[in-house]
Amino acid sequence: MGDVVIIGGGVTGIQAALDLAGHGIRVHIIEREPSIGGHMAQLDKTFPTNDCSMCILSPKMLDVSRHPLITIYTCTEVIGIEGERGHFLVKVRKNPRYIDDELCNGCGDCIRICPVEVYNRFDAGIGIRKAIYKPHPLAIPDIVIRDAEHCIECGLCYDICGRDAIRKEDTSSESVIEAASIIIASGYDVFDAAQKEQFGYLRCPDVITSLEFERMMNASGPTGGAIRRLSDGKTPRHVVFIQCVGSRDVPLGRPYCSGVCCMYAMKNAMLLREKYPDTEVTILYMDIRAYGKGYEEYFERAKRMGVRFLRGMPAEIIANRQDMEIRIENTETGRMEDLRPELVVLSVGLSPAQDSAAVAVRCGIPVEKTGFFTSLDEKINCIATIKPGIYIAGAAVSPKDIPDSVAQGQAAAMRAFLDAVMDC
Ligand code: SF4
Ligand code: SF4
Repeated sequence: MGDVVIIGGGVTGIQAALDLAGHGIRVHIIEREPSIGGHMAQLDKTFPTNDCSMCILSPKMLDVSRHPLITIYTCTEVIGIEGERGHFLVKVRKNPRYIDDELCNGCGDCIRICPVEVYNRFDAGIGIRKAIYKPHPLAIPDIVIRDAEHCIECGLCYDICGRDAIRKEDTSSESVIEAASIIIASGYDVFDAAQKEQFGYLRCPDVITSLEFERMMNASGPTGGAIRRLSDGKTPRHVVFIQCVGSRDVPLGRPYCSGVCCMYAMKNAMLLREKYPDTEVTILYMDIRAYGKGYEEYFERAKRMGVRFLRGMPAEIIANRQDMEIRIENTETGRMEDLRPELVVLSVGLSPAQDSAAVAVRCGIPVEKTGFFTSLDEKINCIATIKPGIYIAGAAVSPKDIPDSVAQGQAAAMRAFLDAVMDC
């Protein structure tokens, strides 16, 4: 039987790998980040059940790491693909981790002693990490990475590591994997909210993105689960969520709906009301799109919990360091309203993953104008591409939520399974 290469170690790729390996297929997961898990590892809860995100994801990450038929390549990118269905040659490059993967046991002594602190991308920039770090406490593989760009070469970590696992020098290395088929599950990136200058992101500390809010809400995040204003550390008494930031925005060249923002905003609004019953919560929206199973009921529940849904989109946020003001037309009543939020959360849309275009070129498959991968057929063959043996799944195809991403990962696994057994 042939092997399968999965590009992307988020929940879509993880599920596809588990399904394939469960049927006796050898799988190689190629992940550009130092840990598998993808964006789901950053989330606090998941809609519409409000289950803890990592409680679902972490056991799957462990299963993948322990499965004898699955090999995980982190800090690794695909740099070339040749061949055809049944006989692909996938060239990969492992970027330097500055750590010996075999020797490091993840004890964390080096992290504790490192004096350098930098913004933590995993915490969406609102937390800090050291120059030697684990991406997050449940990272897989459970080893550290040294950030050579910020390391000041003080030598403290080298001295404390009892296993001599830290490398002063490291280079990238290349290898080739033979595979019968390839699944692209490279996921998404979030929209850069600074592009919507009128909302004051990065200018006003109390305008944050939904991903920053997720990290704040998370008990293992930078604030230990407390929602605080970044300007003064106070709990906000009125939080306003603004929808469709970077979605359905034709002038910005982003005409598509990101599909998940209405639901995750409702989730965050409900969690906020549960945690801080005295905090007023308002969601400003164009349309509420609650299309999935149980989603409309979830919307009703949010309203019952006191979340206010105000139809109308603000032109701008008027902000100085102390106060924020939003003048908005309530399009249901036709009246102007004046809101004075103490925290604004921008519900940012989803973009194709940064390296999608490069992956597409290497695979010889097209991307759409939006940058997401092009399906062979939108209706009945949306996981196939123009290239037999190369499949696409999850948010690499278009923005989608976790249940739909997982379902598409499973569908792609089934197609890849057929290719792998046909190769016998
Ligand atoms: Fe522990 Fe050394 Fe690994 Fe740091 S590099 S986590 S000190 S084994
Ligand atoms: Fe941190 Fe670099 Fe010093 Fe190690 S050598 S402790 S990574 S600053």
